[in-house]
Amino acid sequence: MKCYEEVKCPKCSGNKIMKAGRSNKGVQRYYCKNTECEMNTFMLSYKNKAYEIGIKKKILDMAINGGGIRDTARVLGINRNTVMSTIKKSQSDCKGES
Ligand SMILES: [Zn+2]
Repeated sequence: MKCYEEVKCPKCSGNKIMKAGRSNKGVQRYYCKNTECEMNTFMLSYKNKAYEIGIKKKILDMAINGGGIRDTARVLGINRNTVMSTIKKSQSDCKGES
């Protein structure tokens, strides 16, 4: 089972990727742990992805704070099904994200 969405190195396509903080624009940075790979840090440049991750975090924050599915959907302006599937997905993910 995968804990997180798989991030691959754009250079070697390796999946031994570590998080490396965020850029000044708040974009998650990663680095490749493959010692044979010249890639250092890289960012996923998909804007939609960043948006999705941001929304997901908000959904979970609200859900954890007892916002409820309906209110969460209303406040964030998204579909209730999206809220539900996000929560469900996160519950089946590995626990212990720092
Ligand atoms: Zn690499």
